[in-house]
Amino acid sequence: MPGNSGVLVRAAANGTGDSGPPRVTEPVTEGAGIRELQAALAGQVYLPGSLGYDRQRRGHNLAVAHAPAMIADVTGPADVMAAVSYAASHGLPVAVRNTGHGVSLPADEALLIATHRMQGVRIDPYAGVARIEAGVRWSRVIHEAAPFGLAPLSGSAPDTGAVGYTLGGGLGLLGRAFGYAADHVRSIDVVTASGTLRTAHQDQYADLFWALRGGKGNFGVVTSLEIGLVRAPRIFGGGLYFPGRAAAEVLHAYRRWTRDLPDAMTSSFAFTRFPWDREVPEPLRGRSAVHLRFAFHGPAADGEGLVAPLRRLTVPLLDTLRDMPYADTGSIHNDPPGPLAVHERGVRLRELDEDAADVLIGLAGPDSTCPLRLVELRHLGGALGREPEVPSAVPGRDAAFQLYLAGVPGGADGMQVEPVAQEIVDRMEPWTAGAASLNFLGAADAAPERIRTVFAPADLRRLAEVKRIYDPDRLFRFNHNIPSMRPGG
Ligand SMILES: Cc1cc2nc3c(=O)[nH]c(=O)nc-3n(C[C@H](O)[C@H](O)[C@H](O)COP(=O)(O)OP(=O)(O)OC[C@H]3O[C@@H](n4cnc5c(N)ncnc54)[C@H](O)[C@@H]3O)c2cc1C
Repeated sequence: MPGNSGVLVRAAANGTGDSGPPRVTEPVTEGAGIRELQAALAGQVYLPGSLGYDRQRRGHNLAVAHAPAMIADVTGPADVMAAVSYAASHGLPVAVRNTGHGVSLPADEALLIATHRMQGVRIDPYAGVARIEAGVRWSRVIHEAAPFGLAPLSGSAPDTGAVGYTLGGGLGLLGRAFGYAADHVRSIDVVTASGTLRTAHQDQYADLFWALRGGKGNFGVVTSLEIGLVRAPRIFGGGLYFPGRAAAEVLHAYRRWTRDLPDAMTSSFAFTRFPWDREVPEPLRGRSAVHLRFAFHGPAADGEGLVAPLRRLTVPLLDTLRDMPYADTGSIHNDPPGPLAVHERGVRLRELDEDAADVLIGLAGPDSTCPLRLVELRHLGGALGREPEVPSAVPGRDAAFQLYLAGVPGGADGMQVEPVAQEIVDRMEPWTAGAASLNFLGAADAAPERIRTVFAPADLRRLAEVKRIYDPDRLFRFNHNIPSMRPGG
């Protein structure tokens, strides 16, 4: 293993892993290099067997267990440059992790760069922008922006990493009103495979800037982003939870309802199986339900008016719709807090006609034995369907819905989630326009033939060219990797 041919120290954990110079205490093997890397970092290097290694390699999604050759727990761009240069010169591939919400391939034998200590957030309320460092979660940006009536284009779960989310497109709660989070990026600081820190924006490294926004972690380690914020002190939103037996009526009504909506309304539908868990609200505990989620950017009365026909469909188990501060928007989807092992799949749908809805109801509805926790349809279109002023690599502007599936492998009922998810993907093929944007793909969608379906052919060629320029040796390969366009690549 390349990592073990390097050095040889076991770095002592300091309990918190967040302060002071590293204490290198115990020689564990022979070689050269890690001492050199440790000396170059303000952060800490962890080797297999060292205290703290296990804590550092685990993330939110436990479905993929990483066994990196070493972990660099970095504190800033200088650490990232040193870690990438070290990896490049020792022939080690590089993986990046912040929260571990997004899994692809196990980062085995890689140098894993953990960014969670890079916590800088700076809001410029006059320009309506934020500068965020690589380790920041959305909850932090939401909190810092709120006093100015501003909000980021965050998604369903405020504890996801803001940078990973944005690079993967960033399909947010207000997506139809404002577009993808990636559409609002102003500039990107990124350490590419040569160990060079570059600032990419529309007039500088323009191809790299285009590729990073949608092509995610393929081109380097992003150390910070400057993002545009939107004015959204409050929104009207929440969820309507109906009994699972009403699934057909609700899905067909929802599908028709989405045909004629203002861009200010973003919504989704989900078949959900709630575990028997005290954390789950009592009316939902242990039940199957259908969950409609709404986020309306506009006066609450207008939002109320728009959702009224759906509210009247049948008696809901729970109705959480209300005028709310943006800071409460994590309650709209109410995603499980984790960590959890999750098997996930994602596809884009060209349309959701009556037949497509019936197929889904048969596969995931109340009369099915579907073991997936979540079968979700997010309504696209609006600003999500328009190219931003500065084009990006975010795929699928013409899709009508995104279908996302999530299940816990080895669930209590013993039913395998993987084949069920595969069957749904296969049966929805007639309506499918390719795999979803990279944020909604898991380990099962990491193969090159799957990634080829994410992007349009011309964009895929351009992404492959940018990858060839900035990552010629494919150092950054533990992700949903852009395939090479070379024969056999
Ligand atoms: C509960 C839940 C809800 C979600 N909701 C949404 C949603 O509403 N909308 C949406 O678009 N997505 C959503 N996602 C997907 C999420 O945005 C992605 O999983 C995203 O990658 C999370 O980033 P992270 O840094 O937290 O995860 P990590 O697992 O730490 O990182 C995932 C990948 O992102 C890349 N990456 C992360 N940081 C960097 C960096 N600094 N430089 C280069 N590459 C980097 C790497 O390829 C890395 O492997 C959700 C995921 C979960 C689990």
